[in-house]
Amino acid sequence: MDDLFASRDGSRWLPEYLSQIDVSCIGCGRCFKVCSREVMHLCGITGSGEIVGAGEDADDDEVERLVMIVDHPGLCIGCGACARVCPKNCQFHIKSSN
Ligand code: SF4
Ligand code: SF4
Repeated sequence: MDDLFASRDGSRWLPEYLSQIDVSCIGCGRCFKVCSREVMHLCGITGSGEIVGAGEDADDDEVERLVMIVDHPGLCIGCGACARVCPKNCQFHIKSSN
C-alpha cells in the first residue's frame, strides 16, 4: 500500500520521490535551486563517463561537462518541484519511499 500523507486541508498527498537523473541532464542547476532538501548536487563527468567531484574536488582538465547527481535520495520529501523545472525531463521519480 502507498504511504499516506495529508495536506494541510486533510486531502491526500502522494509524494513522488526523486530517485535518479539520466545522462541527458545538461547540468543547468534548476532542480537544485528549487529543492529545499540537499538531495542532489552538480558533479563533473569525464569523457569516459566517470563522475568526479564538483568545485575544488574536480580536476578541470578531466571534466567534460557538469551533471546533476542524486547523492542523498533519502532526504527527498517527494514535493515534485524539481520535475516541474527540468527542461530535459530527465528525472525519475518513485511513488514509494521503499
Ligand atoms: S521532489 Fe522535492 S525534495 Fe525531492 S529532490 Fe525534488 S525538489 Fe527536492
Ligand atoms: S533541471 Fe534537469 S537538466 Fe537541469 S540540472 Fe536538474 S536534472 Fe539536469
